[in-house]
Amino acid sequence: MHRIVLTLLACALLTTQAWSQGQPAAPAAQAPQIAATKVDGTDNVYTFRNQNSQSMFIVTSEGVIATDPVGYGRRQGGAAYLAEIRKVTDRPIRYLIYSHHHFDHIAGGQAFKEAGARVVAHTRAKERLTALNDPNTVLPDETFDKRRTITLGGTALELTYVGHNHSDSTLVMRLPKERIVFVVDLLPVGQVPGRGMIDFYPLEAEGSITQILAMDWDRLIPGHPGAGGRLGTKQDARDQLTFLQDASAAVRAEARLGKCWEPVETELKLPKYASWPNYAANLPFVLRRYCGLWGRGT
Ligand SMILES: [Zn+2]
Repeated sequence: MHRIVLTLLACALLTTQAWSQGQPAAPAAQAPQIAATKVDGTDNVYTFRNQNSQSMFIVTSEGVIATDPVGYGRRQGGAAYLAEIRKVTDRPIRYLIYSHHHFDHIAGGQAFKEAGARVVAHTRAKERLTALNDPNTVLPDETFDKRRTITLGGTALELTYVGHNHSDSTLVMRLPKERIVFVVDLLPVGQVPGRGMIDFYPLEAEGSITQILAMDWDRLIPGHPGAGGRLGTKQDARDQLTFLQDASAAVRAEARLGKCWEPVETELKLPKYASWPNYAANLPFVLRRYCGLWGRGT
């Protein structure tokens, strides 16, 4: 009986991961559903993971800067995240910053709003969220177009918009002192991107990644944990850029021979990346997006 229940729980977890991320791999099914973990080598920077989604929070002397509530499908989904923060500090929650407008990352922020957080996002995120009116997602209180630095209790968090890429509202969050960036979905760590390619901006994304590589940082907190929960490096960002460029070039050559959508979607392979997690499951999403670009002009 016990074993059956555990099996069902594991299946439910994997199913949820597959639905929300298109990336059914890591972390292991036996990992707890949620976890807050201090980032090694920092005094006050934490990751918060909910199943296979991840965000970052910083505890300062004047309060907490939180990001992405990761409470998909539940207006109060962020309450568990807030409870994890409360195990670390009872200081006020001052900010909740949205990485981009996708619901799998930013739904569930009501608990943060009730705790007094000011919700900050890119201008385009608010425009989209206003139009979509998702009952589970709190609208931003404050927006900006290009750059904003949050300064609180001795911590500076730089928010930079580097153009269209994984979405048209993605922010790069950088902690200059800690040399850490938090970038969601644009730079999966050592993984082939998946369903998120649906509204990906392939030409512009390469420029965005180049801009991120030019920033000063050593470690990348991704929006979905890398294999084993590891953080990313600049080499991971360079590898992701190379992967996208390789996929783009391969599809472009085939598209110009009239081979999109089929047979490219079913037959084209990128064997150089066959060892990356999610390669087989996610490659079709990548090929479809580049077929859209080179085969259709969109
Ligand atoms: Zn996304």
